[in-house]
Amino acid sequence: MNKFRRIGVLTSGGDAPGMNAAIRAITRKALEQGVEVMGIIGGYSGLINENIIPLTTGAVSNIITHGGTILYSNRCVEFKTEEGMQKAIATCKKFNIDAIVAIGGDGTFRGATDLTLHGVPTIGVTGTIDNDITATDYSVGFDTAMNTVLDTVDHLRDTCESHARCNVVEVMGRDCGQIALQTGIACGAVAICIPEIPFDEEFAIEKIKSAKAAGKRGMIVMVSEGVTATDENGKKIPYGEILEARIEEETGIETKFARLAHIVRGGSPTLRDRLTATKMGVFAVELLLEGKSNRVVIEENGEITDLDIVFALTTDRMYKNKLKDGDLDKYTEEEIAEMHRICDKRAAEIKELYEMSYDICK
Ligand code: ADP
Repeated sequence: MNKFRRIGVLTSGGDAPGMNAAIRAITRKALEQGVEVMGIIGGYSGLINENIIPLTTGAVSNIITHGGTILYSNRCVEFKTEEGMQKAIATCKKFNIDAIVAIGGDGTFRGATDLTLHGVPTIGVTGTIDNDITATDYSVGFDTAMNTVLDTVDHLRDTCESHARCNVVEVMGRDCGQIALQTGIACGAVAICIPEIPFDEEFAIEKIKSAKAAGKRGMIVMVSEGVTATDENGKKIPYGEILEARIEEETGIETKFARLAHIVRGGSPTLRDRLTATKMGVFAVELLLEGKSNRVVIEENGEITDLDIVFALTTDRMYKNKLKDGDLDKYTEEEIAEMHRICDKRAAEIKELYEMSYDICK
């Protein structure tokens, strides 16, 4: 006998291709287990505004190929307040929603853990193109976003080659350079600039000069949006456009700048994202049915598994040097060591890939 008769599903924060595949899997797995599913529209704001629809097998038909999210997404400030939370809890009671699966990134999981604390069991599914959640090797949307970058930059390369031009390409990722690093390597960029590793501008410019001298015509330089410079008023500004100007000035090569921005957030999900979203969605429902709550579904070494949400969020803050006073107080030495292991693993993977790219990107 299931503890739950009806669950809710929502997508929140930045959208990511594959979120629909996750919604579909959650809906169908739950229905198969005799649990009804309600779609919460517009992330946490749907809980506040009572914007809720029933999801059936048919309602999630033909969405696995679609980017975006059929449940829409929203950034809901009111949900962070106690008043907003009380409205959300009242909505769950009114619609008999016994538990929630929340698909999104770290902000979404902070909301999920708050809901759990207020008595609504919640499971998180990682969905963000940035792959910036330290505790998971992979988040839904990352592969599609990178393939979109690849496709777009291949177009730029063609025209760079014709005109012997350089194109600096800025891609999303917030503080995480994984999209820039992996696509930079795969696009054959001559230089890659990410927030995790100091960028040697002089070295990159010398590399571009020698490539030109050796006869190379088209050049791509990949920059992550998280890399910033400071202007004369002390304000942080994106580094990509500054680098564009410097390359042109120093090398004499005509240089353009392209910000791919939200283009990369849409599009039909790749096989990797459809499959991972499906596996994660099914796993999330299984966790709920096992009576688990406040867990986030992650991928580790190719396996779908789960972690405590607060542990995952704390590990994330540790990796990003954003730990707050008392964050580690409730953890044992073993748990803190595990957090360090996860952070070190991620840092080592990025460093290894970046160092490899030094020899290949020419
Ligand atoms: P992402 O999940 O992609 O990181 P956001 O950081 O924008 O996206 O968070 C998505 C939503 O999650 C927010 O609009 C808000 O409703 C909720 N949220 C974020 N942070 C918190 C928090 N500290 N407490 C409660 N809810 C939060």
